[in-house]
Amino acid sequence: MTPHIDVEHITLAFAGKHASLTVLDDVSLTLAKGEFVVLLGPSGCGKSTILNLIAGFTPVRQGRILCAGRPVKAPHPSRGMVFQQPNLFPWLSVLDNVTFGARMAGRKKAAADADANAWLDRVGLNGFGQHAPWQLSGGMKQRVALARAWLPDPEVLLMDEPFGALDAQTRMMMQELLRDAWRQTGTTILFVTHDVEEALFLADRILVMSARPGNIVEEVVLPFGRDRDIETLAQAPGYSHI
Ligand code: ADP
Ligand code: MG
Repeated sequence: MTPHIDVEHITLAFAGKHASLTVLDDVSLTLAKGEFVVLLGPSGCGKSTILNLIAGFTPVRQGRILCAGRPVKAPHPSRGMVFQQPNLFPWLSVLDNVTFGARMAGRKKAAADADANAWLDRVGLNGFGQHAPWQLSGGMKQRVALARAWLPDPEVLLMDEPFGALDAQTRMMMQELLRDAWRQTGTTILFVTHDVEEALFLADRILVMSARPGNIVEEVVLPFGRDRDIETLAQAPGYSHI
């Protein structure tokens, strides 16, 4: 089967004052359609850089990246991105935040609103459409960001430590919610984190990165299927392995 996302031999250096810094050194990875993969690694190892390349924010210089067989050249709504900060427009209602991209792409308001309301429902924000972002907690704002990224039915969701700023309890709720939404949609997900527990809870497969220069050093396939609980996780071979 051809991979859905295909990152091939990416090397990337950022120019510095005196020398250039090689951030990624020959990184390759593939995602199959519908997979939930976590990219796990310490801060600064190049996780965000990889997501930005796949998203099309950062141009590929060495190597190549294919999405559904086509080279990635620029950002596209078929590759949704969720960041640590929800980045909602403060002057728009929750509903208008969710539909913003769809409306910009020319979708009719009634249809976009209907889809957005279904998504708000799915992320537990039924009835919050007319609220302003400032009326929501951090976790609720991140739910809005999730609904917004998912609305155009992206081929792949790229998630850059999306729950990193949330308290532990909210983070766990969001992890559950994300797994549920993923199960319902079958969207391909590449989720970045530096948190091992989070990786083990979410992933079907974990790609472990090391730093300087960033590289994928290990792959852990979680062997116990998609519906597992934390007790099963603690006994899994992958747990002590990392
Ligand atoms: P992570 O997301 O894993 O924490 P990043 O991908 O953000 O890591 O960064 C990897 C390395 O690349 C870091 O050393 C960072 O300082 C450097 N870096 C990231 N973006 C730039 C940039 N635009 N210019 C120069 N260096 C950068
Ligand atoms: Mg980062």
